[in-house]
Amino acid sequence: MNEYVNRVLEETKTKNNTENEFLQAVDEVLKTIEPVIDKHKEYEDLSILERMVEPERIIMFRVPWINDEGKVVVNRGYRIQFNSLIGPYKGGLRFHPSVNLSIMKFLGFEQIFKNALTGLPIGGAKGGSDFDPKGKSDNEIMRFCQSFMTELYRHIGQDVDVPAGDIGVGGREIGYLFGQYKRIRNAYEGGVLTGKDVVYGGSLARKEATGYGLMFFMREMLGAHNICIMGKTVSISGSGNVAIYACEKAQVMGAKVVTMSDSNGCIYDENGIDLDCVKEIKEVRRGRIKEYLNTHPNAKYIEKTGSENPAWTIKTDIALPCATQNELILEDAKTLVKNGVIAIGEGANMPCSEEATNYLLEHNVLVAPAKASNAGGVATSAIEMSQNSMRYYHTFEEVEAKLDTIMTNIFNACKSSAEEYGLGHNYVAGANIAAFSKLAKAMVAQGVV
Ligand code: NDP
Repeated sequence: MNEYVNRVLEETKTKNNTENEFLQAVDEVLKTIEPVIDKHKEYEDLSILERMVEPERIIMFRVPWINDEGKVVVNRGYRIQFNSLIGPYKGGLRFHPSVNLSIMKFLGFEQIFKNALTGLPIGGAKGGSDFDPKGKSDNEIMRFCQSFMTELYRHIGQDVDVPAGDIGVGGREIGYLFGQYKRIRNAYEGGVLTGKDVVYGGSLARKEATGYGLMFFMREMLGAHNICIMGKTVSISGSGNVAIYACEKAQVMGAKVVTMSDSNGCIYDENGIDLDCVKEIKEVRRGRIKEYLNTHPNAKYIEKTGSENPAWTIKTDIALPCATQNELILEDAKTLVKNGVIAIGEGANMPCSEEATNYLLEHNVLVAPAKASNAGGVATSAIEMSQNSMRYYHTFEEVEAKLDTIMTNIFNACKSSAEEYGLGHNYVAGANIAAFSKLAKAMVAQGVV
């Protein structure tokens, strides 16, 4: 291994030794960009890698709020302002009980590269809280969001840091967060948050963007290998924002989606998922995916028992992990390969473990890496920011067409970087190299900051 890469990896491990997810994300990026480091000896003197793995700023704060029983509950809030090389900090907020510093840092780190790939002027950030929105009333969600924003507002701004949604943060939460920000600031700074409802400054097609973008990327990747999505069987994990709109576009492209899941288990409908039913359960009633069987008794429900994901036991051509990190591990990869999978499209962030990714690549499975394939969400958020600045709105078709072009460009960047460095169809390395090359140039240009 390149000595400089090795040294920075070791130092990062020593400094952040309890942060497994962060170390995993750094390990994957640094190992795949070795050929660029080999070529640019000057990066070592400039400590490019040391600067890349150290967040510009970490903000952690107390979020006290009152539940419906009148009890004061205290959660922890985070904002990792990781890197502002190419634009204001940008990245979502995650509300989930598993949220901790390691998960925030891994997400913030990956966001830097993803945002660079979009070709738009956005830096990398991530934030959130260990607050669990599940089972909370609307009033509890609102009180939590208001308290969260009462601290966060001083750190963000439309030219400073622009949060959006992620797991557990959708249109409802963004609305409450925006309302509180506007009240505190006494100004209508529409571009301070993205993922807003269209009635008060959101962009058409933002809700659909991550899932649609994933399918545009898949279309390009498969097309480069003369494979058509039409007629293929697709397995999806998750049933949230990304999963639902990946399913919608996959169906429009003529694929048959047979699975969706939530954290309790997975539904398998061999006739093809009835997406209207899933939307009704998840977007309207905020229910559990198991309820699908109430109206589709011929579908199967497989409960999640261990760490393996039941969605990956089903025979499929294309697997789209759209739930969370490390939800597709080595054992799942082996099962998918045994069952003849052709391609994996990462809708979630870091859904495949490093061992799983390597196994898939070694077995000639095409892997669409999250930093590239799920970048459609943040790209459309940047389009939302530009619409807010212009005080003018594009039509749905205009935004979707821009998204399609961006995803096509991202795939081409991954492909040409992989080719330039003789890495064949390794688009995971291609994505990291394309993004890193751009960021390193910006870092050199901006001096030691
Ligand atoms: P949502 O909260 O809308 O949906 C998340 C889905 O994943 C739910 O079905 C949820 O099930 C499931 N899930 C969450 N955590 C776990 C877990 N630990 N084990 C099993 N299932 C789990 O989130 P999004 O769809 O917005 O995000 C999904 C992924 O996509 C995340 O990795 C996110 O970082 C990534 N992403 C999202 C973008 C966006 O624009 N929203 C953009 C780019 C990436 P349950 O309801 O039971 O918790």
